Amino acid sequence: MVWLSDDERFAAIEENLKIINNDIAEAAITSGRNPDDVNLMAVTKTVESKFINKAIDCGIRLIGENKVQEFLLKAPELKLDSCKAHLIGHLQSNKVRKIVGMVDTIQSVDTVEIAKEIGKRSVMQGISTKILLEVNAGNEYSKFGFTADEVFEKACEIAEIDGVCVNGLMCVAPICEKEAELRAVFSDMRRLFIDIGDKKIDNTNMNVLSMGMSGDYESAILEGANLVRIGSAIFGARIYR
Ligand SMILES: *Cc1c(COP(=O)(O)O)cnc(C)c1O
Repeated sequence: MVWLSDDERFAAIEENLKIINNDIAEAAITSGRNPDDVNLMAVTKTVESKFINKAIDCGIRLIGENKVQEFLLKAPELKLDSCKAHLIGHLQSNKVRKIVGMVDTIQSVDTVEIAKEIGKRSVMQGISTKILLEVNAGNEYSKFGFTADEVFEKACEIAEIDGVCVNGLMCVAPICEKEAELRAVFSDMRRLFIDIGDKKIDNTNMNVLSMGMSGDYESAILEGANLVRIGSAIFGARIYR
């Protein structure tokens, strides 16, 4: 990868966000929706705080981090007064205590047990934590997420837990060779989202359908995503240390 100066990276972030916002608006309109109905999350794993703050300066109002520790380290440096944060990576139960109260939503709830732990820690803090249920949308490489068959039943079970509120679904789509396969994955997710919403489970608001990343966000929006999680298309390829 070409080594860029900070100023070049700031400029690239600004430019990338313009392009992505345009693409999102176009896909939203094509799918018969208002561009404002689709929320853009900047995924900030491995990204230094100064670049995240640049994205916030450019209008980003939602960021997503994968790891509790990384988020807690960066959080004091981030302009979080004007931007919400979600946890989007797999959460281990021994980290729940540290993250509850620090993020607006935990998107990556993939077992009833982790939801119980989030609920317990939230009640201790006197709060309720918004969560999304992660669905394993045919992704054989990912071991995380509820299967499509079980997610309704699990949503009912989780709805009974004090201190959490189910706010929608999230998925990471598998890598598909054909666009039609990818669209089918997103379309199945949307049907699940609508079906569960129609059942009107108590203490559950099916508001958020979080799907679509740098490589597939337009397809996700065309199939009904209202939150897309975009990292490398904003910040450039990630460098893992
Ligand atoms: C890394 C990550 C993203 C963003 O991936 P890009 O391909 O860089 O846009 C989105 N969602 C989750 C859960 C991730 O881990």
